Amino acid sequence: MASVELSNLQKTFGAFTALEQLNLKIDDGEFLVLLGPSGCGKSTTMRLVAGLEEPTAGDILIGGRRINDVPARDRDLAMVFQNYALYPHMTVGENIGYPLKIARLPRAERESRVREAAEKVEMAHLLTRRPGELSGGQRQRVALARAIVRTPQLFLMDEPLSNLDAKLRTVMRAELKHLQKELGTTTIYVTHDQVEAMTLADRIVILNDARIQQIGTPAEVYARPDNTFVASFIGSPPMNLIEGQVERGTFAHAGGALALPGQPDGPAIIGIRPEDIAVAHGAGDLSGTVFSSELLGDSTLLNVRSGEAMIAVKVGPTEGREMNSAIALHFDAAKLHVFDKATGARRA
Ligand code: ATP
Repeated sequence: MASVELSNLQKTFGAFTALEQLNLKIDDGEFLVLLGPSGCGKSTTMRLVAGLEEPTAGDILIGGRRINDVPARDRDLAMVFQNYALYPHMTVGENIGYPLKIARLPRAERESRVREAAEKVEMAHLLTRRPGELSGGQRQRVALARAIVRTPQLFLMDEPLSNLDAKLRTVMRAELKHLQKELGTTTIYVTHDQVEAMTLADRIVILNDARIQQIGTPAEVYARPDNTFVASFIGSPPMNLIEGQVERGTFAHAGGALALPGQPDGPAIIGIRPEDIAVAHGAGDLSGTVFSSELLGDSTLLNVRSGEAMIAVKVGPTEGREMNSAIALHFDAAKLHVFDKATGARRA
């Protein structure tokens, strides 16, 4: 187990910058998730820590020790990838035990550690099967067991659940979180799925365009996104962002106007989450027409067209509306976010 520190880490490929000066400290035992859209630099960060790529500049420290020049095999970390990369001709037990064989551990010790790791992922009864005879979820468990069998100081996981169907992903997510806390092994986990990030992480690092956009606990990034990118990336559906003009404490937009005291005159973007909007009885803060009404079981998601904007609203399961009917919405003033129009940065 160890802490990890990335200091001014940078990676360029020719003229292309895959990662700008990244600074990040990961605590011992922490489950840290790197979240961002395709191409933002998540996997590059992971590959740098793993030693599969060399940084253009900056330092990587594991347990306080600079490991830039330490070869990948000596970094004492275990990786789990999207394609589990199991050896098809080996049994489950042989696959799990392979890292121990490479490390030349005696057979008896290997066998007991393989059994122990297999038990942790509930695969001990399938040790003699081959990967071809397993389900996707079982293969994923074998890959996890192979990662934990060596008790490394760090786990690196790159989209390890994305090959599984939605239901199994939810099950494996819970198992993975439980296992990581039980083992207490520092983990860096890459995903583009914000639900996975929210549910697994102690802290989330949101990346876009090779830069960190925000670092925080799931609750922090949800409640107080630093900019419109984070606001529109976290949450399902994400925060509504509405462009308009502030004039003498009033925010005017295509669908109405609302009080926005203390903000300077000029263009601005307000943000509000779907659950912080209610259907108004009266004028409301915004009026529009119902574009769609979707019953989700425990709630109803209304999509309301207002001017150019499409506003997502989460209401009760019995509050569905007719398509194309007129609707007025009330925004919870305490839950309004204000962003700068030019930079997207949070103002309030
Ligand atoms: P994804 O979710 O699609 O895997 P990612 O965030 O993991 O995306 P990276 O793999 O880190 O993205 O890549 C970041 C950027 O660097 C991408 O634009 C990619 O095309 C570029 N890149 C990665 N490896 C190389 C390489 N060897 N040569 C040139 N460009 C590269």
